[in-house]
Amino acid sequence: MSIQVRNVTKRFGRFTALHGIDLDVHSGELLALLGPSGSGKTTLLRIISGLDAPDTGSVILHGEDATRKNPRERRVGFVFQHYALFRHMTVFNNVGFGLRVLPRRRRPSKAEIRDRVFALLKLVQLENLADRYPAQLSGGQRQRVALARALAVEPKVLLLDEPFGALDAKVRKELRRWLRRLHDEIHVTSVFVTHDQEEALEVADRVVITNEGRIEQVGTPDEVYQHPANPFVYHFLGDVNLFHARIDGGAAHITGHPAAVHDGQSGADPDTTEAFVRPHLLELSIEPNGTNSFEATVAHVNPAGPFVKVELISKWGVPLQANVSQECYRALQLRRDLRVFVVPKEIRTFADTKRAEP
Ligand code: ADP
Ligand code: MG
Repeated sequence: MSIQVRNVTKRFGRFTALHGIDLDVHSGELLALLGPSGSGKTTLLRIISGLDAPDTGSVILHGEDATRKNPRERRVGFVFQHYALFRHMTVFNNVGFGLRVLPRRRRPSKAEIRDRVFALLKLVQLENLADRYPAQLSGGQRQRVALARALAVEPKVLLLDEPFGALDAKVRKELRRWLRRLHDEIHVTSVFVTHDQEEALEVADRVVITNEGRIEQVGTPDEVYQHPANPFVYHFLGDVNLFHARIDGGAAHITGHPAAVHDGQSGADPDTTEAFVRPHLLELSIEPNGTNSFEATVAHVNPAGPFVKVELISKWGVPLQANVSQECYRALQLRRDLRVFVVPKEIRTFADTKRAEP
């Protein structure tokens, strides 16, 4: 079922949480709403679900205006961050709950409910734990029960609000891969809220980046990561180093840092713009390397992990972060106080050109 959000505004008192949101969710896709805390993700999800009403605008489900319908009429399933399982019910009874409370004419028989619950438990890989109580499950298992319970009533739309937010990092990673595979099997139109960019980029077909009640960009994970629409999106999707650069014949030349604006050194040059470089796109060398390389001093090296995190102080006195390979770390013998040259491999600017060559 497709979802269309049209010009939705939501105010809480004098505060506007959503400013005229327009959004299309395609039938069968897994869409992530990604944004910082307070950017309006939950508010938008609740309006899609029918738990809250917008002040203006409409929600159209499968081509029909559903703005005035309640969640049950909209046939939405929910999973929240805090597992709202019934503590006094077994896993089996939790998953079957939505079916047992259906009006008699729509309620399946006991045998049918049993079959459906076991099929769902199999889907979420918990068929052996049907008799357990929530307190006897791990956090990850509880969220899988919550998902099975949401799916039991065959929702047309599945809404997940930071479903893995309360779990530890390793379990989260496992569960998001598992959710991706599950979605590939069942293809129910799903909206997944998260503030974790890695989670959104890994799990979703498309990502919507929210900020202060507005949408900054919508695109596939690759589109938003490779072609961020603006500095906010670029910042939000990963670590960045901030520079000033002069654009010259389509190429960007690092001239310093924006901090210099405050002491009146820059700003006079209309060709100077903010420029961004991700830590893994800063290369280090012992000798000057190309016209864009500049000197810096190593302040700290952390070699633990797949790449080596190097903190530097640029020749303009500003801290920088470079992520280099273990090979580079060994070859350059990187250590505190070493003088190196920094070479930006890709400089991102948002002024005239979307992307300038270094
Ligand atoms: P997110 O889910 O992205 O963290 P929310 O949608 O929960 O953000 O909230 C967006 C903004 O709206 C926040 O500033 C929040 O404080 C405000 N807000 C949300 N719900 C209410 C409410 N019921 N009453 C007043 N303010 C609210
Ligand atoms: Mg929220």
